[in-house]
Amino acid sequence: MTEPRKAIVVGAGIGGLTAAIALQRAGWQVKVFEAAQTLRTGGTGLSVMANAMAALHSIDAHVPVEQAGQVIRQFFFKKHNGGPITSMPIHEIGEQLGHPSVNIQRPLLLRALAQQLTPDTLTTGLRCVGYANHPDGVAVHFEDGSTHEAELLVGADGLNSVIRQQMLGETPTRPSGYIAWLAVTPFSHPVMTEGYVAHYWGRGKRFGLCDVGDGQAYWWGTCNHENAADAALNISKQEVLDAYVGWAPEVIAAIEATPESALLKMHARDRQPVEQFCDGHVALLGDAAHPMLPSLGQGAAQAIEDAVVLAERLAQTPDLRTALADYQAHRHPRANGIVNSARFMSGIEQAESTFACWFRDWYMRLTPQSSLRKKNIDILSFKPSA
Ligand SMILES: Cc1cc2nc3c(=O)[nH]c(=O)nc-3n(C[C@H](O)[C@H](O)[C@H](O)COP(=O)(O)OP(=O)(O)OC[C@H]3O[C@@H](n4cnc5c(N)ncnc54)[C@H](O)[C@@H]3O)c2cc1C
Repeated sequence: MTEPRKAIVVGAGIGGLTAAIALQRAGWQVKVFEAAQTLRTGGTGLSVMANAMAALHSIDAHVPVEQAGQVIRQFFFKKHNGGPITSMPIHEIGEQLGHPSVNIQRPLLLRALAQQLTPDTLTTGLRCVGYANHPDGVAVHFEDGSTHEAELLVGADGLNSVIRQQMLGETPTRPSGYIAWLAVTPFSHPVMTEGYVAHYWGRGKRFGLCDVGDGQAYWWGTCNHENAADAALNISKQEVLDAYVGWAPEVIAAIEATPESALLKMHARDRQPVEQFCDGHVALLGDAAHPMLPSLGQGAAQAIEDAVVLAERLAQTPDLRTALADYQAHRHPRANGIVNSARFMSGIEQAESTFACWFRDWYMRLTPQSSLRKKNIDILSFKPSA
């Protein structure tokens, strides 16, 4: 009997865990190494969009995302005070594509992914510090001095990836120009019906309110900042309340309902897209390869797509280097296109001048539902590689 092929995945985020599932489903022996002591237990929510759901389905991942989260039923764009702008036919697109988009708490998604791995796949509390390619594989080095060998290394170590750093050298992050507050909190409001998502647009500020199921809401707020990259990340609920004075009652109520201890504050960043995701026996995926601003809710979805396509290419093409070249060629146009679209969209959403905001809201209001559907269907469709 031939020995199973061996892979090491560095990073147990959404991308790394999905890669491990996909590779195990394809018969690989996989070890996942995570720097943190546990899978992330805190943190906020996210939307697992229809393309990510389709990608998970394509590998029979059996991850109960819908059960652990809340299918998105309405998706509204609103003025800062709650007045209507337009709605996105996200539920209808999901029905057309055969997969819904789902809001979920991040720790629940991570746990559901990890539960699909064979026992003893995951080692936590071990930080990767680098790798060395050799003709038959790759040696992966860790902070405790240990080295593990494999045929394949998957660098799924996120925005500040050490594997990317070694592969590509310095590729600075690009600030978004805003800071973001995020939280998950028990919350109900008459406006927030089942499966509710609304993005409220103000001048240089936005607020997102999402039903993540189980009586919980995930919300995020953004605020332009002259020097966002250096803005202090001290947490103050009063600072958030001050930023949203005069906004829709449900926005203020959601902030008021949130304990200060549940608040996160961060700088959103991306990087200039690159076309290289691979080096010898090493492949980057997710935020390590193509970090993006959150405007299209696609960062984790693209990490999931990467993971599924990577495993699929490796199954189709026995030669590892050829398979990785195929993976890179298939993935970089789509993922990098979304990085660029997310940055473009972010500029529009964070508009600050009265005219730009008026034009933005007017343009969105007049855009027919059929155009919104057409614009989104491509992003929300997962196309496995042929
Ligand atoms: C505000 C905000 C909202 C977002 N909303 C959405 C959304 O609605 N939908 C969506 O699809 N995406 C969303 N995203 C993007 C999404 O969160 C990321 O794209 C996604 O988490 C990337 O997953 P990943 O597995 O590539 O990286 P990460 O989630 O960053 O995971 C990387 C893992 O690697 C570990 N690690 C790091 N370095 C090392 C090392 N040296 N050795 C070992 N382990 C290491 C880390 O501890 C971490 O567990 C959002 C992002 C932000 C900032």
